[in-house]
Amino acid sequence: MRRKLIAGNWKMNGSLAANADLLASIKAGLPGSACDVAVCAPAIYLAQAKAELSGTAIAWGGQDVSVHESGAYTGEISAAMLRDVGCRYAIVGHSERRSYHNESDEVVALKASRALASELTPIICVGELLAEREAGKTDEVVARQINAILNVLDEESLKSIVVAYEPVWAIGTGKTATPQMAQDVHALLRQRLAAKSAVAAEKVRILYGGSMKPDNAKELLSMPDIDGGLIGGASLKASDFLAIINAA
Ligand code: PEP
Repeated sequence: MRRKLIAGNWKMNGSLAANADLLASIKAGLPGSACDVAVCAPAIYLAQAKAELSGTAIAWGGQDVSVHESGAYTGEISAAMLRDVGCRYAIVGHSERRSYHNESDEVVALKASRALASELTPIICVGELLAEREAGKTDEVVARQINAILNVLDEESLKSIVVAYEPVWAIGTGKTATPQMAQDVHALLRQRLAAKSAVAAEKVRILYGGSMKPDNAKELLSMPDIDGGLIGGASLKASDFLAIINAA
């Protein structure tokens, strides 16, 4: 039985004051330990997350990680630095990075490897564009994206990843994949993982992301291969984020 994970992706939102309020409300309203919970904050606020969340049941993570280990890469944040401020997770390959920063499948796979080498759990995002879904290419696209990961990770590393299926057309749009649409892709992803390692396929949590909200979370999270959510907009409002945690 996979323990569900609800991870917030704050994107480029927040301030010291707003984060303090948000985290205080989440901490105060957090139910018992029915699922894992994390917030992925902008890098500049990860030290604040550490200060506010150490000793609680809420983990924190970065939203990206450098492909480089260290050195002259101005503006980059390494996996070791994320680990240094206590991160447990690092999102890699979010569609906003793939599209605005031209991150290829190979770059995303390298980022996942870097995260794992620093004992971070990469939350590896995959998902198709609207045009790709409409052209019937969803399976092809997500298979290509997950295969790039399978090509570089050994079986042992594979057991430690989290995958997030995020149909790009559902992110921040209010449009959600139906539970069955999401389940179909999650099952395909698990099948791909199983082709490399049956043990990893059973173990790896596959999150759904894309306008998950309190009113659709329960249905999505009840599907057999949906092991949690990567939550954008709704993670910025404590009551919504807590409602999704409760649904899990
Ligand atoms: C995301 O950006 O990972 C995401 C799922 O965003 P939203 O929940 O706002 O669609």
